[in-house]
Amino acid sequence: MARRITWNGTTDEAIALLHALREHCACEVANGRTLAPCAAHSMLVQDQRAVDGLLFMRRMAARLLAEEFDVPQQVPLIHEPLLV
Ligand SMILES: [Zn+2]
Repeated sequence: MARRITWNGTTDEAIALLHALREHCACEVANGRTLAPCAAHSMLVQDQRAVDGLLFMRRMAARLLAEEFDVPQQVPLIHEPLLV
């Protein structure tokens, strides 16, 4: 039974994820058809917990870096790739 994956992030976060996927996609494609999806695309359609985990860590990354290295927190840029 297929599970529905729900995006719980913002539009900007979705765009950042799409940019990261574009950079790291390894899908097998022939004549515009996907023959074998890559691990990243498979995760997006199969693993709600992993998708939520990516969002959680993206939001926590600036705070963790600030706490660990005494760096001022910054808001991620729209096109900044996800830290995976
Ligand atoms: Zn892919």
